Amino acid sequence: MNIADVAIIGAGPAGMFLAHLLHQQGYCVVVLEHRSRPYVEARVRAGVLEQGTVDLLHQLGAGSRAGRDGLRHEGVNIAVDGKAFRIDLAELTSGRAVTVYGQQAVMHDLFELAERERVNVLFEVDNIKIDGIDGEAVQIRWQTEDGGGSAQCKFIAGCDGTHGVSHRYLANARRFEHRYPFAWLGILADVPPAHEELIYGWHADGFTLASMRSPSRSRYYVQVDADTPLAAWPEARIWDEICNRLGPRLSVNVTRGNAFETSIAPLRSLVTEPMSYKRLFLAGDAAHIVPPTGAKGLNLAVSDVIMLAQAFSEFFRNGSEQGLRSYSSRALQRVWQAQRFSWWFTRLTHRMPDQSAYARRLQAAELEQLRTSAAQQRVFAENYVGLPMQVYP
Ligand SMILES: Cc1cc2nc3c(=O)[nH]c(=O)nc-3n(C[C@H](O)[C@H](O)[C@H](O)COP(=O)(O)OP(=O)(O)OC[C@H]3O[C@@H](n4cnc5c(N)ncnc54)[C@H](O)[C@@H]3O)c2cc1C
Repeated sequence: MNIADVAIIGAGPAGMFLAHLLHQQGYCVVVLEHRSRPYVEARVRAGVLEQGTVDLLHQLGAGSRAGRDGLRHEGVNIAVDGKAFRIDLAELTSGRAVTVYGQQAVMHDLFELAERERVNVLFEVDNIKIDGIDGEAVQIRWQTEDGGGSAQCKFIAGCDGTHGVSHRYLANARRFEHRYPFAWLGILADVPPAHEELIYGWHADGFTLASMRSPSRSRYYVQVDADTPLAAWPEARIWDEICNRLGPRLSVNVTRGNAFETSIAPLRSLVTEPMSYKRLFLAGDAAHIVPPTGAKGLNLAVSDVIMLAQAFSEFFRNGSEQGLRSYSSRALQRVWQAQRFSWWFTRLTHRMPDQSAYARRLQAAELEQLRTSAAQQRVFAENYVGLPMQVYP
């Protein structure tokens, strides 16, 4: 049996950032990932990183590519029926901004660093079982194609996303959930983006987002019904709908091209409370989900693991359990702020299936207030670039 200070379940952003934070302080970690490395690296998801996330990549020594290829965005645009206004993020937040850099690239950089620094990451493990969660030493067992393994550790970090196993061990948990009656259909294509910054589009036929991954790679989303099959959306229809929802003025800059990735993601909000039980601590999507509208999921995973790594390190350094005991309530403060922002921005920009004309006018009025009110824009900008990553009681 192996011995580890912390066993981490899941090698997504939460698991890998946490592994590096602990490994670089000299603690022994084992990371157990269900999928293969190429699979995790190919998963197309987040693209907008808060400053704190980029700072952490640099601090860990994995930031050089993000520094070179990441696109710093100091503003974001909201188009109402095809007419766009810009929110100046940097101006409203004393120079802060977001960076467009894809989750695939983040994972590649974290795995490369893990290889260089010999962090123990095991891929393609299955059937993880945890024993002794309320004792001093926890046992974790797993299977692999050629057998399996086990480790004795002081703590388990459940970083295995929404479909993982670790949340099932939280005997005391309560889940708060909201499901949205629509989904996002996303495409990735090697064509120049429609604009140098993101455009969030409000339109009678539904929401659209014109985003990008690089100056030559575009990422677009359109709001679709929750139960829409992908087959109902041939590529030409997707491009037509993007152009329709951006309106004639903005869509002249849409370059159509072969979409090499197309997927549908249902939207939901979820929070698990508390985020810990005895020796098990959840972080990232394993504990909470936000709709992607506010670009908060990966960034929340990062703020969770910064707080969690500090709490583990306090315990290993001087035996104090204070940070571990308050981890859940501190993390949840920031989680609920991001929940509120993501829910608000989703509700503001999407068309509800049974939306009345009255509700639609209210959305338009709120968007108009966002366009014209410096105070509203400041609140938006503070949330969009990210609230402080560490929350103290
Ligand atoms: C369309 C879309 C756009 C998004 N855009 C943004 C954005 O712009 N900005 C942003 O911040 N966020 C965004 N997100 C959210 C972001 O992708 C997630 O919040 C982020 O991946 C969470 O990281 P995580 O490590 O907590 O979970 P995950 O990325 O889900 O990683 C969990 C890992 O655990 C592994 N695993 C699962 N079960 C097991 C098991 N039983 N045993 C072992 N391993 C297991 C999984 O294979 C996976 O590798 C977006 C999401 C979507 C869907």
